[in-house]
Amino acid sequence: MKRLSSRFHLALGMSSLVVTLLLGALFAGLLPDRDAALRSGRTSLAEAVGVAVTALVGEEDPTRLQQMLDFLLSRNPDLLSIGLRQADGALRLQSGAGGHAFEMAPDAPSTETQVRVPLLHDGAIWGHAEMHFKAIQGAASMSLHRGSPALLVLALGGASFVVFYLYLRRMLRHLDPSQVIPGRVRTAFDTLAEGVLVLDPQGCVVLANQAFIDIVGGDEKALVGKRAATLGWSQPAGASPDDTPWAALQGDNLARRHVPLYLNGQDGKRRSFMVNGSPVPGAGGKPAGMLVSLDDVTALEEQEAQLRLARDAAEQANRAKSDFLANMSHEIRTPMNAILGFTELLRRGWQQDPKDTQRHLDTILGSGKHLLALINDILDLSKVEAGRLEVEHIDCKVHEVVHEVVDIMRIRADQSGVQLQLEFPHAMPETLATDAARLRQVVTNLVGNALKFTTQGVVTVRVYLGPESERGRLRIDISDTGIGIPAHKLEAIFEPFVQAEASTTRQFGGTGLGLAISRRFARALGGDIVATSVPGQGSTFHVTVQVAEPDPFADWLTPEQLSQRQAAAAGADSGLRWHFEPATVLVVDDGAENRELVRLVLESSGLTVVEAQDGAVALAQVAATRPALVLMDVQMPVMDGYTATRRLRDQGYTAPVLALTANAMKGFEREIEAAGFTGYLTKPVNIDALLQTLSEHLPAQQLDATAAVASMAAAQPAAAADPHTTAGARRPAAMNSAARSTPGPALPAGPLIRSRLESHPRLSRVVRTFARTLPTKLALMRDALDARRFEELANLAHWLKGAGGTVGFDSFFEPARRFEQDARSHDLSGLEEGLLEMQALAARIVAPPDPDSARLPVLGAAIA
Ligand code: ADP
Repeated sequence: MKRLSSRFHLALGMSSLVVTLLLGALFAGLLPDRDAALRSGRTSLAEAVGVAVTALVGEEDPTRLQQMLDFLLSRNPDLLSIGLRQADGALRLQSGAGGHAFEMAPDAPSTETQVRVPLLHDGAIWGHAEMHFKAIQGAASMSLHRGSPALLVLALGGASFVVFYLYLRRMLRHLDPSQVIPGRVRTAFDTLAEGVLVLDPQGCVVLANQAFIDIVGGDEKALVGKRAATLGWSQPAGASPDDTPWAALQGDNLARRHVPLYLNGQDGKRRSFMVNGSPVPGAGGKPAGMLVSLDDVTALEEQEAQLRLARDAAEQANRAKSDFLANMSHEIRTPMNAILGFTELLRRGWQQDPKDTQRHLDTILGSGKHLLALINDILDLSKVEAGRLEVEHIDCKVHEVVHEVVDIMRIRADQSGVQLQLEFPHAMPETLATDAARLRQVVTNLVGNALKFTTQGVVTVRVYLGPESERGRLRIDISDTGIGIPAHKLEAIFEPFVQAEASTTRQFGGTGLGLAISRRFARALGGDIVATSVPGQGSTFHVTVQVAEPDPFADWLTPEQLSQRQAAAAGADSGLRWHFEPATVLVVDDGAENRELVRLVLESSGLTVVEAQDGAVALAQVAATRPALVLMDVQMPVMDGYTATRRLRDQGYTAPVLALTANAMKGFEREIEAAGFTGYLTKPVNIDALLQTLSEHLPAQQLDATAAVASMAAAQPAAAADPHTTAGARRPAAMNSAARSTPGPALPAGPLIRSRLESHPRLSRVVRTFARTLPTKLALMRDALDARRFEELANLAHWLKGAGGTVGFDSFFEPARRFEQDARSHDLSGLEEGLLEMQALAARIVAPPDPDSARLPVLGAAIA
């Protein structure tokens, strides 16, 4: 088709040439001359008039002559007038609209407009016929429609020149140069994996190899003659069309390398190329064209993009891990600080009021529980992530579970002034088969979140069975009137470590784990959690859980019955309710504190405790004391609990051996059993669970809590005389007034601290002044810390940092420096910790003796 069309163009060009030649011929005079014909026509007319008039001129009556003249005039539009003039010069007859204006001298020759013809009568000249014609217009002024051959030739010649020129140009472009390339060269071109284009100096495609044709599709004929620039390239952002190799080569004829360009392939897919362009020198060094090669780097780029994605994902994971660790460290340090700080306080016995003691203990307990919850969260998540989450489906009282959660959460709700409601809109069976522990965790998380993110209004928990269409689905909706969640975050918040706002941790705490764990639990229970929310108005988390289809004959409870809180399961956390018959228990644990704790609990319940710090010692102890029961830690140095238990069983020891373990992963039970353990208890030790379990193996009797406390008090009559608890009474007055929750020095923990300058004759006075001022400064710090006056705290710390060193108490420098830093960064937990540390240091410093006084003004424990 294209070939035919080329031939057609060529033929058209040729015919234009023919037309041009024809017109040239016409121009050369081969065309009839209209002017000459006119002139000759006028001559013939004049001659005819002469003959005709001669015949009539002799007639007396001029009428016929006049009629003839009029007839001649009417038949010849070029004739303006005609007249008959006698030889004497008199005008005998005439015809013409505007009169006969004939101004030729008598002997002048005729012209093309004034023609005179002699008239004969009787052999003599009678006169002349005079004819006045219109002027014949010259060639230059003639218009085309009058058919001037010169003008026609000129116009057609010009037009055919243009047409021929254009057609010729087009033809040349369409001529297929590939046909002139030797076959072997062509094959070599086509076997190249790179796309190759040969362009002419104007940037039009002269040749395209197979690789390039395969990319763009179609055949080579469609490409040849096209401008390379019009093939649909796109460029990287910021690049200009002048940067394409062809444009650049046209500009400066210098080779270009690795120019990135994109082109849509025949499959519609965008492909990336690295394009090289070099000039092809022609005769005389003039550029004859360009050679453009295209390296398809699409696959490479895709790989690179994938690598980049993988790297980003790895970086993201790494960042998430770092964030997580940072969060964890913060989360763990906060309760840890409280536990350590208040434990230290209690250990020193600084508190005077038993209420303070209780408060501190509550704080320690609360912080410990929080820590445990956190660790459980992490373990849960790692279990879920490792695919080791196992759930059970056991009949349980779901309404009880939710009641319990709501009761626990009510304290928090009351503290923040938020209403917490529990609703059971429909009747429900008393028990449903699910995993109560997981469900409790899910509801606790969601209600906890609802309360955390709600400052006023209501948090409502609705528990009901799904409608008829989804029987066997338990639904729990937790809605709040809190800050809400932006729509685009509603899914993301279920990812681990994701919080709706970056500021969430700072404002509300949390690790972003709760929802991730909850959703995984819900899914493991055959359901899901989805969230809906209107930012600023509140959120609802819809939990669904698959339960066995309820048995219509089971006990169903009405909404009223469900709403009534059953009496709490007896005596949670009431503590020390067992009295054991005398028996010896071996406590094996490498942690001395753990042994100590268990010893305290067991001894106050009437048991005798022997201890061992590892499996090997345990074997010896069993042989020596034959305990009635062994509590055996699992992980220990020297010999672990598994080995020790196996050996004990091998030696024929049959008494119960209970494992104490921090590892409560599923599957662990089998190992425990295989090793010969009777059962296990998880760490940290829950006192009630410990006693309860022991009571299953040793003869024991349950007491009510008050009786137990009384029996414990009776067992420890010496406690009141403990010097730790009386130290506060002997505290200097200044210290008492200066301190509140940490009211000044008592017994020092650690060696006494003396100033380097203590014996300096003059400087010792400054040291004494510092020592006197210090308690007041610490009290001021306490006040400033309570009131969050960070600037003041920083200034006080700054003073202490400098002054401590100056007076030779260098040990203040580092804590004071850190304290100052924490004050500037508003790190509350750091500040709490720092203040405790400095108070502890203050309790240990000894001021030099005052030479003016016999008294020994000693700060801190030195007074005791
Ligand atoms: P955490 O509460 O420890 O940050 P979660 O996984 O429980 O972690 O929650 C993830 C995030 O979801 C929260 O940080 C918070 O931004 C958002 N979120 C969860 N529950 C609510 C709620 N009831 N109201 C508003 N935002 C919520």
